[in-house]
Amino acid sequence: MTQQQIEIPVILNNGVIGTAVATGNNASWHCYCQRNIPLLGKSGQVKGPSENLKIVCPDCGAEYFVEPDGGDYKKAVRVIEL
Ligand SMILES: [Zn+2]
Repeated sequence: MTQQQIEIPVILNNGVIGTAVATGNNASWHCYCQRNIPLLGKSGQVKGPSENLKIVCPDCGAEYFVEPDGGDYKKAVRVIEL
């Protein structure tokens, strides 16, 4: 079976909702700063973001967290800006 490409929401602090693509516990999306290369992150823990599991855009410093589906490091369901 191929790696299914699932679309999940990216929720920005200004209320804008974008789209990320996820396969398993990995997700990829474009930062709102228009960085050419997409960001890539894996899901974290249910309790929320920790220092070593957040994703920081190298160009603008925006911080994101990939939420897991009901258990630590489970499949990615949502990307949120921190
Ligand atoms: Zn950025």
